[in-house]
Amino acid sequence: MQHPVLSSAIRHAAVDFRMAHDPQYQELAVIDDLHDPYSRFYQIPKSASDLKKRRDLIAEGTRLGGTVVPLIHEIGTDAIWGLMESTYLLDRDYGTQYSERVKNFWEQARHHDYALAVAQTDVKGDRSKRPAEQVDPDMYLRIVKRTPDGIVVRGAKVHTSVSVNANWLIVLPTRELRESDKDYAVAFAIPVNTPGLTLVASPFLSGPYRDMERPISSHHKMVETFTWFDDVFVPYDNVFLNGEWQAAGTMAKAFVEFHRFTAVSYKLPLLEALTGVASLLVRYNGLTKARHIQNALSDLVLYEMTVRSILDNAADRGEWVEPGIFRPNIPLVNLAKYHFATGLHQAFHHVQDIAGGMLVTAPSAEDMVHPEIGPVLNRYLQGQNINGKQRLQALYLASDLVASDLAAYHLVLAVHAEGSIEAEKMTAVKAYPWGHAESEAKRLAGIKEEQPPQV
Ligand SMILES: Cc1cc2nc3c(=O)[nH]c(=O)nc-3n(C[C@H](O)[C@H](O)[C@H](O)COP(=O)(O)OP(=O)(O)OC[C@H]3O[C@@H](n4cnc5c(N)ncnc54)[C@H](O)[C@@H]3O)c2cc1C
Repeated sequence: MQHPVLSSAIRHAAVDFRMAHDPQYQELAVIDDLHDPYSRFYQIPKSASDLKKRRDLIAEGTRLGGTVVPLIHEIGTDAIWGLMESTYLLDRDYGTQYSERVKNFWEQARHHDYALAVAQTDVKGDRSKRPAEQVDPDMYLRIVKRTPDGIVVRGAKVHTSVSVNANWLIVLPTRELRESDKDYAVAFAIPVNTPGLTLVASPFLSGPYRDMERPISSHHKMVETFTWFDDVFVPYDNVFLNGEWQAAGTMAKAFVEFHRFTAVSYKLPLLEALTGVASLLVRYNGLTKARHIQNALSDLVLYEMTVRSILDNAADRGEWVEPGIFRPNIPLVNLAKYHFATGLHQAFHHVQDIAGGMLVTAPSAEDMVHPEIGPVLNRYLQGQNINGKQRLQALYLASDLVASDLAAYHLVLAVHAEGSIEAEKMTAVKAYPWGHAESEAKRLAGIKEEQPPQV
């Protein structure tokens, strides 16, 4: 807790644990099992209502986290649900026995309330080549040795969020594989202090930032790591995939589909904050009647409402998957994530437009409290029925949200995290009832398809 950057990430992630002890959130955060109460994050979703409670818990934690998700329960439990679903199929189709190990890991994690990180994304080297085709064979994590007690893995993953403040790391394959890639078909869980595992932390969003000028990023951050596996030994009890290349793609996708539901759940507080600060600034600037400003505000509201209602619908129209998990509706959850990710840059643009150039030119918080300059700023920076100091506070918040390191982080996160926009689009479009749409078009046009005449 002494480190200036890591301590901030740890304090931020602690939100998830604090909620469980806060009477205000306890009902939402804790499953009241008489013998062994546990975090709702570890509850296997069994219905639309469970999914919505999970969404509410994620959103509430992110609100307390100042629009930044704590993630230390969220991503890991998505991985556990994905592992449960995919190892069930694997055991059924190939006679393996991974499900029991996943179940044991889940029970252990639930009992100890583990903080979990997930390393899925490999470094990938030359993107045009498959894992086994790479010049350097370690561009995707692979099994280099099998011993009587476990496997030894080598390689590196990137962008691993919250790993520096997790107890355990869950490792998943990143893509579908072929037989020639079979040593890359590997999934497991290890404690983060396992010998041979090195976490190289990203300095992004390290600050230091001043409280008043950066009300969010001075307190809230996640740390991502380059995650290096230098011949790491994993005992079989915690191995969930060991060479079954046919299952790698299913496993990768099963996690991602649960994780996209989490992703959109934690975007909602950011969208609320954008709308809220934009509305304040419109009022403080006396522009409630300006047409283009009203249009920008309306766009923000419709954007948030659309993302929220698609997510709701994804929960309501979820489906049962073996071994007894209620999974969000896949096309809809992808649509929600797609809509969020493609709309965020425009939403930032609206807030930037409404707020004006002070987002990047405002005087400092020190000047604001300076005995001579402070009162001058308080007077000259006033708005409609608001003093300069308070108008500036709203501008600082807007700046932190849409004109800061945090803003860049949010934008890149929207484009890349939880999978690409292209993947989200394709998944949603593929599920569209094309046959029905074509039948309707044929009915309206009066077409009864016939083969062209033979010549
Ligand atoms: C803030 C943040 C947090 C994250 N947290 C985690 C985490 O906790 N755990 C985790 O595992 N991952 C995490 N991710 C990783 C995220 O899922 C990846 O960023 C994403 O999958 C894209 O991979 P990449 O960054 O390697 O980019 P690339 O794969 O290099 O993609 C860059 C571009 O190239 C395109 N491209 C890549 N390969 C091909 C190809 N073969 N053919 C055609 N086009 C291609 C992509 O579509 C994209 O447009 C996080 C990412 C961010 C930004």
